[in-house]
Amino acid sequence: MNELDKLHEQILALEMENHELRQKLVEQEYEQFSLQSIQKLAKAGNWKLNHLSYEVELSPELIDILGLSQEHRLWHWNDFTALLAKMNTSDATGRLVAPPNEGISMPYLYLDYVRPDGDHIHLKHFSKTFLNTIGQPLRTVGLVQDVSEERKQTRSLELQSITDELTGLYNRRRINEVLQQELDREDAEFSLILLDLDFFKQVNDTYGHLFGDKVLKHLARLLQLELPDPAVCARWGGEEFLVMLPDHSLSQASAIAARVRQELAKFHLPDGSPTTASFGVTQRARGEDISGLLSRVDHLMYTAKQSGRDRICSAKASEDDSQIITDA
Ligand code: GH3
Ligand code: MG
Ligand code: MG
Repeated sequence: MNELDKLHEQILALEMENHELRQKLVEQEYEQFSLQSIQKLAKAGNWKLNHLSYEVELSPELIDILGLSQEHRLWHWNDFTALLAKMNTSDATGRLVAPPNEGISMPYLYLDYVRPDGDHIHLKHFSKTFLNTIGQPLRTVGLVQDVSEERKQTRSLELQSITDELTGLYNRRRINEVLQQELDREDAEFSLILLDLDFFKQVNDTYGHLFGDKVLKHLARLLQLELPDPAVCARWGGEEFLVMLPDHSLSQASAIAARVRQELAKFHLPDGSPTTASFGVTQRARGEDISGLLSRVDHLMYTAKQSGRDRICSAKASEDDSQIITDA
C-alpha cells in the first residue's frame, strides 16, 4: 500500500468515526430533548447536588417552575433549602436529601412554595442520593413536580363530598364525622340542635318546589349568620338541619335555637304566614355514644312536633326534665 492509499484509509476511518460521533451527538441531543419535553409536560424539573462542593444545579425547567430567572442556575445548598423552607418547616426541607446511613432513596414529600410573582404552588419532591464505594454521599438528584392543579382538583372533590349542593352547608356525612371526632374525646362537652321545617310538604305543594328550595337556602343563610363561630351546621336530611355547638351548655344552645326560631319567623310565606320549624335541643352526657345522643335529639324534635310544632323541646340526658319553649 502506498502513502496515498494509507492516507485515504485514514481519512475513511476518521470519517467513519466522525459519523459515529455525530450519530451519538444526535442521539444524546434527542434524549436530552425528549427528557426536557416530558418534564415540561409533567410540569417537572430537577436539581443535582454535589456533596463535595455543596453546589446545586437547577434544570431550566425547575427554574421556570420556581419562577426564578435563568441565570439563577447554580445555588449553594443552604440558599436553595432556605428558598424552599420559606413556606415549610425546616423538618420538611431537612428531608430533601437522605440522611447519611439511612438509605439513599427518599420517599416523596410535598412542599408549598410562593413564586416571586406571588403565585402559591404545591410541589411534589423526590430525591435519590448516590454514594461512593465507601458509602459517602457523592451526588443527590431531586425531581420536583408542580402538582398545584391536581391538588386543586382533589381539594374541590373533597369539598364536594362534604357539602350539601343546595344550601352550601356541610352534608350529613361531614357532620357525622365531626360528631365522631368530638365523641372520641371522652370529656368533650357540646350540645346539639335538630330542627325540621313545619308542614314543608304543604309549602312545596302550594308554592312549588323552587319556592321550597328558596326557603331552605334562606334557612341555611340564617343559620350561618346566627350560629356562633365554633358551631358546625349541616343539612341532615330534606328539610332537617343539625347543629353541633362545642362547649355549649343546654341552656346556651336553647337560647341559640330560640333566636333562630325568631329570625326564621321573619321569613313570610306568600300568604303572609311566618316560616316555622320544630326544634330538639340536647346536651351530650359524659361518655355518651353517638346513637344515644342522636336518637334523643330526634325524639325531642318529634315531641316538639307532636305538641303543636313551632317550638323548642330541650332536655339533658334524661327526658324527664324536658322543657318546651313557645311564645305562647
Ligand atoms: P312536618 O311538620 O311534620 O315536618 O311536615 P312536613 O311536611 O315538613 O314533613 P314531610 O316529611 O311530610 O315532608 C317533607 C317535605 O320536604 C317533603 C319534600 O318534598 C320536602 N323536601 C325535601 N327535600 C327538599 C328539597 O331539597 N327541596 C324542596 N323544595 N323540598 C324538599
Ligand atoms: Mg318537616
Ligand atoms: Mg322531616
